[in-house]
Amino acid sequence: MISRMVPSESFSGAKSIVRGHLSRIVQALQRSAAVSYIVDSQFRIKYCNPAWNRFAGSNGAPQLTSKAVVGSALFDAIPDDLRAVYSDAFQHVLSTGRVWEKSYECSSPTVFRLFRMRIHLLKPQNWFVVTNALVVERSHARTAAADPNTYVDVNGLVTTCAHCRCSRRVDNPDQWDFVPEYLQPRLEAAVKVSHGLCPVCRAYFYRFT
Ligand SMILES: [Zn+2]
Repeated sequence: MISRMVPSESFSGAKSIVRGHLSRIVQALQRSAAVSYIVDSQFRIKYCNPAWNRFAGSNGAPQLTSKAVVGSALFDAIPDDLRAVYSDAFQHVLSTGRVWEKSYECSSPTVFRLFRMRIHLLKPQNWFVVTNALVVERSHARTAAADPNTYVDVNGLVTTCAHCRCSRRVDNPDQWDFVPEYLQPRLEAAVKVSHGLCPVCRAYFYRFT
């Protein structure tokens, strides 16, 4: 038993750091526009953020809001043909400790949407933080790309997260989208990048600040 070998004071201190890390991540997720959730080591849903609830509500799935799904098994909610992909992804994160990420489509009959999913390991309890940042959302009827000025401020600067490479919206600083393909032509046209940290990466990677 490790806890017996460590003076109780420093052990409880370590526990409060862990709690502090988790609570800072939850605080960041509370404000984040990325659809996000936390699962425990048994893949039971422990937490869903307000963006998750808004997404479930606006997609006609009120049965999937946090009140209903917290405590349930994540894999029960994942379609059969995606279970292996998710299972491999979580296993990869668990064995390497590294963030796993992938873009995927999650469209509705009227709206085409792409998301960028990131899975982060939470140690020492081996829980997982899953975030889904918006890549693009548009009506199927409209083919024009999103306006890149959404991300360029009055000084011609784009603020991009140094970890997840999402860019901050000028009109909503809580929303960070993964939009490299929209920004690339702008960057070539002399738009400057300011590297920052999105709130979720700040909370996850900088646990002692
Ligand atoms: Zn980030």
